Formats: sequence, C-alpha cells, structure tokens
Amino acid sequence: MELRAVRGMNDILPEEVERWHKLEGAFRLNAELHGYAEVRTPLLEPTELFRHQMGETTDVVEKEMYSFERHGDALTVRPEGTAGAARAYVEHAVHAKEPVTRWYYIGPMFRGERPAKGRYRQFYQAGCELFGDPGPLCDAETIDLIAGFLERIGIADFVVHVNSLGSAGTRERYREALLAHYTPRKDRLSEDSQRRLEKNPLRILDSKDPRDHEVSRDAPMILDLLDDADRAHWDGVLRCLDVLGVNYVIDRSLVRGLDYYTRTLFEVKATSGDLGSQSTLAGGGRYDNMVAGLGGPSVPAIGFAMGMERLLTLMPGDAPRRKPGCFLAPLGQVGADRALVLAKQLRALGVSVELDGRGGRLKSMLRRADAVGARLCVILGDSEIERGVLQIKDLAAHVQEEIPLEGAARVLADRALESSPGGGQRGAR
Ligand code: AMP
Repeated sequence: MELRAVRGMNDILPEEVERWHKLEGAFRLNAELHGYAEVRTPLLEPTELFRHQMGETTDVVEKEMYSFERHGDALTVRPEGTAGAARAYVEHAVHAKEPVTRWYYIGPMFRGERPAKGRYRQFYQAGCELFGDPGPLCDAETIDLIAGFLERIGIADFVVHVNSLGSAGTRERYREALLAHYTPRKDRLSEDSQRRLEKNPLRILDSKDPRDHEVSRDAPMILDLLDDADRAHWDGVLRCLDVLGVNYVIDRSLVRGLDYYTRTLFEVKATSGDLGSQSTLAGGGRYDNMVAGLGGPSVPAIGFAMGMERLLTLMPGDAPRRKPGCFLAPLGQVGADRALVLAKQLRALGVSVELDGRGGRLKSMLRRADAVGARLCVILGDSEIERGVLQIKDLAAHVQEEIPLEGAARVLADRALESSPGGGQRGAR
C-alpha cells in the first residue's frame, strides 16, 4: 500500500522551511512594529462558531469545512482565523482589560476546496485582528500594514481593492435592492444562487458561476446606498489611504465570501507573477458586529489574512542555507568518544555542530563536511588524541593545522563564530 499526503495538503521540507522562516519573521516584525502581539488559538472550534459568524450560506460553510462529531460535540478544523480570535477575545473578556487590542496569528487553515496552484486544502495564513477602534484611521493603517509588509519582502506589484458594505441598516436596504434586481431574473441564476436568493442575495455577487456574473452585471451597487455615517467613515478611509500614499482602487463590486463584514472591505491582488486566478494575496475588512454576536459587548473590529503560499511564490530570493560551524570527523573509538564531548561543549558555546557518526573513511567525511557547507572540519584521530592534539581543517581557506586538545572547544568556537558571519551560531552566545 502506497500512502501519500492527503490531496491538497503539502509537505514542507527543510530546504523550503528556510524561506517560510524568513517570511514569518518579516511578518512578525512588521506586525510588532504596528503594536500587534501574537495569539494562538486552537485548530478545532465548535462548528457553530463558523456557521454563525461566517454565515450559513457561504461557500466555506456550505461546502468546504472539515467538520465531524466527537463525544457528542460538533467540531470543525478551522477554515480561517478571525472567528476563533474573536471567540477568544470574548471568552477572556479582553475588552475589560484594555480598550484596544491588537492580535496577530500565523498558522494552518483547512478548507475542502478544489486544489490548484495557490489553492490548497491545508494552507497557511498570517493575519491581524484589531479590536476596539471604530475609526477610519485604523482601517487605513491596517491596509498600509499589508502594503508595507509586501514591500519589505520584495513584492512590489500589487494593488489594493477597497469597497464599503455599510453597516447593518445599509446592508438591509441593499438586500431589498438586490432582491428587487434578482427576483425577476431568477431563472437565469445558477442553482446555488437561486437557493441563496431569499436568504442572502449578497452571496450571488461573489458567485464564481458565469451565469451569475451575467445577471449581476447591472445589479445595484452598495456604495450608492451608504447612509451618512457610513459615507463619512468611507470618505475618512480613502482620505487616510491618500495620506499614506497607498496604491488602491475603489472596487464597487467587491463583496468577499463571508457574511461578517461591515463597512470597509479590501483585497490585495498581485499584478504580476504566475498565480493566475489565485492572485488575491490578502483579504479583510471590518467586522463591527462579531464580538457582540458572540455574546460580548459592542466592540468594533477589523482584520485581514494573507495566504503564505501565495506570498512565497512571489517573494524573491533564496533563504540563506543553514550551515554548521563545525563538522566533527572522528576516526576510531577514542576519537568518537572525544567527539561526543566536544560537540556538547561547542553547542553550549553557541556553535552548531554536525558529528559524523557513520564511522567511515576520512575522505568521505571531508566530502560530507564540504557538502553541508561547514567552515571547520575537526579531525579526531586516535593517535593524535593520545598525543593531546586535534587536526582542524579550514574548509574555506584550505589550510590544516594542529591545535591542543586542552581548551580546543573555546578555540574552535572563536574560529567558527568569527569566520563565517552568523557562523553556524544559533541562539545567544
Ligand atoms: P480569506 O480567508 O478567504 O479571506 O482568504 C485570505 C487569503 O488567504 C486569500 O487572499 C489567500 O491568499 C489565502 N487563501 C484563502 N484560501 C486559500 C486556499 N484554499 N489555499 C491557499 N491560500 C488561500
């Protein structure tokens, strides 16, 4: 029986993980510069959380969630991060501890979508959620955080699409307007949209079915229906984006696939690269009603999530390969015992070490030391150890010398750490 990874779920091997670390590190730094702190919530949540918050009639909830029952509980492997973060915010009464909360997260999400390039069933998102600030300044700063981050990691070709969905009253009026538009054209809609028409006509606008696109072409636009307060907020967001110099377009047909959004809505799309139809790098918006909907107080919120795989496809540059500072090549039993102790001493001094325990010939060990990119190869021959010395070979400078065994760890550490910048050093010294 040949066992393979689940379709749409990828192994990330060590040579790729280096680039992931680089991306994650840049994200953490950028989020922390904006005052965000990391939150970690469970991968499993009550199914009800997503059904309620993302919306019964959304694609994700209707078709894509990995849901199951265990010990009488209906559970779902999280398809996104916002609902869990908001649940945690309410559960820990964070609003009572501070008026404004900024959280970020990085982690895997699960959706049973049809796999394609840039679209997986397990994929990683990095996201931010900001609770407690209703003002347009933070909408613009949130968008600018994403733009700044993309630039920092070397992705320059993107554009931000923005729209406003208004608040609850506006949404209700929009629903009526959409019903009036679609009802006489119902027969031309896809089966999914016909079914969703009464419950949630907004979902027809982000349907992927070409029949729905056709009928939606002259549908009313929500920007035309904003009330005065929504309009003031929207104008404020655009003004701040202009102040920040963000490259954006107003996308009147942007609705995004989830129900919880209110007012500002945005997507960041790549304008070059080969992501094809999966060019949306990030998406987010305001969700001013979620915290109250989860039984918390009325606390406004805004957030976004980015797809890490898509960012990695576009992020230029190779990550530096991790190289050991010292490679230990023991020849014989006495050398091997000595190498075990020396490796421990070197690691305690902050030097990364690879000990060749295969017991092979010196030539093949030197070849291996070269292949892993070690700076120093330490040869521990039994007769030399009996004389109280070691051979060290500088693999970059191609010189070999003998040093006393006594105090060798310190000497090797100094060489390894000074000779290659970062010299295999992991952690503080
Ligand atoms: P969403 O949570 O649907 O708003 O998605 C936010 C971002 O996550 C998208 O813009 C994508 O970059 C990424 N994303 C969403 N779904 C997938 C998926 N199935 N595979 C890979 N990336 C995804």
